Amino acid sequence: MSTSYIKCPKCGTENVNNDYCSNCGAIINGVLERKLERDLKNQDRRDAENAEAPSKVELFLKKGLEHPNLIIRIFFKVGYGIWFFFAVIIGGMIAAIIGAAAG
Ligand SMILES: [Zn+2]
Repeated sequence: MSTSYIKCPKCGTENVNNDYCSNCGAIINGVLERKLERDLKNQDRRDAENAEAPSKVELFLKKGLEHPNLIIRIFFKVGYGIWFFFAVIIGGMIAAIIGAAAG
């Protein structure tokens, strides 16, 4: 039976047992705000990784897969498989490190 009054830092409204301001909708629960910020940062970092690093390699390898020479196509197919294999492992490791660092 705990009642917590939190004053909204934005509009000054007193809120009772609320994570969000009943007047302006701002987050007034500090713990929740920090958690949301952290989630957002992690999401941004993940998006940046997905968007930047692999796309150039992937594009290069995909171009090779359409090469008219069969031997080169096979070479690229193997290369693509190896690259994809390492991308998954390294990606998993980065995710694990970020997860450990973020706690
Ligand atoms: Zn407010």
